[in-house]
Amino acid sequence: MAAEQYKMFFPKYKYSRAFCSEEDIQIAISVKEFVDKEIMPRRRDCEGGWHRDEELALNTIDELYRGIEKLGVHIMNLPEKYGGLELSPVAALMITEEMGRGDFGLATLPGKTNWIVGVMLAAKRDDLLEEFAPRMASDGGWTACIAITEPGGGANFEDPSLSFNTVQTVAKLDGDEWVINGHKRWPGPSGPADRFELKYMKGHLGYWVIATTDIAKGPDGVGIFHIPPDAEGLSFSKPYEKMGVSWSDENCDIWLKNVRIPRKYRIDSEPGDGAKIVKSAIIGSARLNTSARLCGLSQAVLEIVLQYTGWRDIAGKPVRERSLFAATIGEMFRMIELTRTYNLNLGWQRMHPELYGEPSSPEMMGKCSLARSFAADTAEFCTNKGMELMGSYGYSYEYELEKYMRDYKIGKMWLGGAHRDRLDIAQALYGPFTWGGYKEWLRQGAAVKS
Ligand SMILES: Cc1cc2nc3c(=O)[nH]c(=O)nc-3n(C[C@H](O)[C@H](O)[C@H](O)COP(=O)(O)OP(=O)(O)OC[C@H]3O[C@@H](n4cnc5c(N)ncnc54)[C@H](O)[C@@H]3O)c2cc1C
Repeated sequence: MAAEQYKMFFPKYKYSRAFCSEEDIQIAISVKEFVDKEIMPRRRDCEGGWHRDEELALNTIDELYRGIEKLGVHIMNLPEKYGGLELSPVAALMITEEMGRGDFGLATLPGKTNWIVGVMLAAKRDDLLEEFAPRMASDGGWTACIAITEPGGGANFEDPSLSFNTVQTVAKLDGDEWVINGHKRWPGPSGPADRFELKYMKGHLGYWVIATTDIAKGPDGVGIFHIPPDAEGLSFSKPYEKMGVSWSDENCDIWLKNVRIPRKYRIDSEPGDGAKIVKSAIIGSARLNTSARLCGLSQAVLEIVLQYTGWRDIAGKPVRERSLFAATIGEMFRMIELTRTYNLNLGWQRMHPELYGEPSSPEMMGKCSLARSFAADTAEFCTNKGMELMGSYGYSYEYELEKYMRDYKIGKMWLGGAHRDRLDIAQALYGPFTWGGYKEWLRQGAAVKS
């Protein structure tokens, strides 16, 4: 069956000109065309097909990443003077949505280089952008990783009321070098440097690690440290086996044992900036980008459902023309449209801190949590109800919905997860509150279980 086209899903109809330009829409159209032509037919191969064939997965990701790189999706926010596209945050969200429609994991991969560029831009580190940009903008893909989560917890880091008092990875200055010790879990993509040298992909740019110079200092001790991928003292576990995004975002334990890096590789340079950058450019921006990916994923699911229910009959009439089912489809579209509109609106607000406050403010963080949590609920509704509308065929591998169902779940849970999102929204609304017993726990040395 040839895929049907729906006017309301076309970039020129779905993206509001209140937030973007005609040129942004043209870029989104090019990315959509790439997704339709190259990613859609191979989306199941991104996880190695039914048999989870590692070689098939890596080859597929490698080849598709080459096309993604040609479009510049991995350097959307890199300034033009360094060879990037320098798109607005709103345009970047539109492209991220188009990518999420193809494959959630594959959309995450170029997000990693944009993520580290965002951190270096927020820290005003032109010297480091100059150092990393030639590789990012060159012919040949590079990836990168931001390492936040530790064995003692991930959501802890994303909890403003814990004020970074649970960070266990420690950086100490020794002459002109930082010496870093700690243990990170889950950051992706991670692993030995040569794991990322494929046919087209050139390699890994390294780890942007959140650590503290002094745990007693809470937010004032927090810094972001760049660790080259082959640094001495860095070691990795085998990749975790997981439900989805298996090769597009490989996750490992990372151990840092007396890792020495030059002093300049502490990214945040102004006192107190580290915590702000972690909130705005790492957590807030990643939640909003996740929201865009989830929006694209939900649209892809609705497209599958529309196709199937337009073909399948109930007593001589297509399923989607029976009112009970049409109402569910209408509900899916309603949630997707609102998810997108909120994302673009918030992307635009983040471009105007003079009107809406700094991206690291509780209000703006709460809004990023709102965007992600609503997008995750939309994806949950669409995958769940969509599968039910398709009956057993929705459950089968062949109809491609089950993969989206597995993939959306991590978009809901990473970066602190669904509960953290709700608490951030509440705290943005009526001010901070801490956990009962928290102060006593801190006095006793905040023994984080790991
Ligand atoms: C595919 C994948 C990719 C990932 N990529 C990265 C990455 O690139 N970098 C990185 O650093 N990490 C990454 N993670 C880790 C992820 O962000 C964390 O797992 C997540 O933040 C939740 O942390 P946790 O698993 O330690 O849950 P826990 O902290 O153990 O939480 C368990 C439960 O308690 C809740 N909870 C715990 N503490 C709090 C709190 N203070 N406030 C509110 N709720 C709380 C959680 O919401 C959850 O429901 C990735 C994980 C996966 C699966």
